[in-house]
Amino acid sequence: MAVSIIEQIIPSTNANRPGGNYTKSYITIHETGNKDAGAGAKNHANWLSNGADGEIGYHYTVDDHEIYHHIPDNEKAWHAGDGGSGTGNLHSIGIELCVNADGDFEQTKKNAAWLVAKLMEDYSIPINNVVQHNHWSGKNCPQTIRETGTWDAFLALCRAELDSGSTAPSGDTYTVQAGDCLSSIGEKLGIDWRDIAAVNGITEPYTIYAGQVLQLSGGQPDPAPAPQPSTGYKLGDHVVFSTCYRSSTAPIEEHLTAAQMLRSHGVITRIAEGARNPYLLDNGLCWVNDGDIRGYYQG
Ligand SMILES: [Zn+2]
Repeated sequence: MAVSIIEQIIPSTNANRPGGNYTKSYITIHETGNKDAGAGAKNHANWLSNGADGEIGYHYTVDDHEIYHHIPDNEKAWHAGDGGSGTGNLHSIGIELCVNADGDFEQTKKNAAWLVAKLMEDYSIPINNVVQHNHWSGKNCPQTIRETGTWDAFLALCRAELDSGSTAPSGDTYTVQAGDCLSSIGEKLGIDWRDIAAVNGITEPYTIYAGQVLQLSGGQPDPAPAPQPSTGYKLGDHVVFSTCYRSSTAPIEEHLTAAQMLRSHGVITRIAEGARNPYLLDNGLCWVNDGDIRGYYQG
């Protein structure tokens, strides 16, 4: 079962995001050890973004309903306790399981198993290289799983997720929000926007649109979503269109292409709520609907 992964990457200026670029051949399982009510993945994401307690960092936190991603998978993180050149810190992806008292730990384990299976596929990591924090440093972590003797059962959950095929296609995605551009997305996620453009086959003028699902690594780009009868854009938005209309009520058969218009962009100067083509561009250039708009103009 797919679980949503929320990207909240630690600022690169933080001491708990040491950076670097390392191949990953192991996955290390931890527990947070924090039984406080409310100590879920989101709380840990905020704690890490705010610098945590110095240098502590790891790649993901999982609770019973969501997953937060804190450090890009290829970077090192100080989570394994095996030193500055340790295989655990450099070459393993660290995953923390929440043990908050108000969480469902059985569900957290299932969600973590899904993530483990996904990462195993993404990086060709064998199940034998899915290890406990204890493997690197001798620490009693993941404590609950160790003390209840359920490590083998956890690995079985990972294998079941792998076999179910629920982790394909590989690769994280990001859904474009209104007002986003590639560079702001890259900054938000801590990845080079040119890589996002390349993976998704986006070329100059780098047009994207709200609702578009971008692949962040590997896999094939998702097809564009069907246009919705909505008004997702607002007055003053400078948008790029592929087709437009002479009136707000013209049917699709009467569309004009951007080539016929001799231009492909304009500023929304009026919105006729509920109309078939609700946006008037440049006080009279033509009318467009959400399906005609390819994204925000970046001139
Ligand atoms: Zn640990």
